[in-house]
Amino acid sequence: MAYVFPPAPVSTVAVAGSDDRIPVRRIFCVGRNYAAHAREMGRDPDREPPFFFTKPADAVVMDGETVAYPPETENFHYEAELVVVIGEGGRNISESEALSHVWGYAVGNDLTRRDLQLLAREQGRPWDWGKAFDRSAVIGPVHPVAEVGHPAKGSIRLGVNGTVRQDADLAELIWSVPEVISILSHSIALRPGDLVMTGTPAGVGALVPGDVCVVEIDGLGQITTTIGPRE
Ligand code: MN
Repeated sequence: MAYVFPPAPVSTVAVAGSDDRIPVRRIFCVGRNYAAHAREMGRDPDREPPFFFTKPADAVVMDGETVAYPPETENFHYEAELVVVIGEGGRNISESEALSHVWGYAVGNDLTRRDLQLLAREQGRPWDWGKAFDRSAVIGPVHPVAEVGHPAKGSIRLGVNGTVRQDADLAELIWSVPEVISILSHSIALRPGDLVMTGTPAGVGALVPGDVCVVEIDGLGQITTTIGPRE
């Protein structure tokens, strides 16, 4: 057997303070996981079951990179998020066991073509074109659990050109990390290298070419993304 063309390279994200890399398998994202953000998106923040969408593994962008303003949108948004890296797979994982499946945590930015997402929502269509486009998942260096534990509270902030746009606390997550892992693993088998973007707080807004967007989470450092010209 021979491949008819070379397989795509493995997508990876950095490990903080190391030359090691995390091979990325899939990227799961939680929708509306902070009450104030659910309200700003016109939805009831009651504790209805969480829902998920995905991004391709090769959508990852590292800290410090420039992301070209993507095509087919006039409303390109940032979303500051805590990212969970699964190190040990499993299915039907209990909440009490869930954290033992986590390898580490990172700062993320769930880049979104908001106009396409909202149009899809209105029309009952998939969110992919609003969420799963090229270079839509900024993932900072991953901090191992052995060094940072399991952050359940602490500031999560996002600034654009030095102005604070999102300012919340991880304790405000509607669905906690153990709950999200447990619920996900009852629908699909989690595998090492799966990432979970846990949702964004209130204050989402637009980016334009030339903007510099910085996301910071207490204990996990900060990541910087510059928006380049339109593709
Ligand atoms: Mn998000």
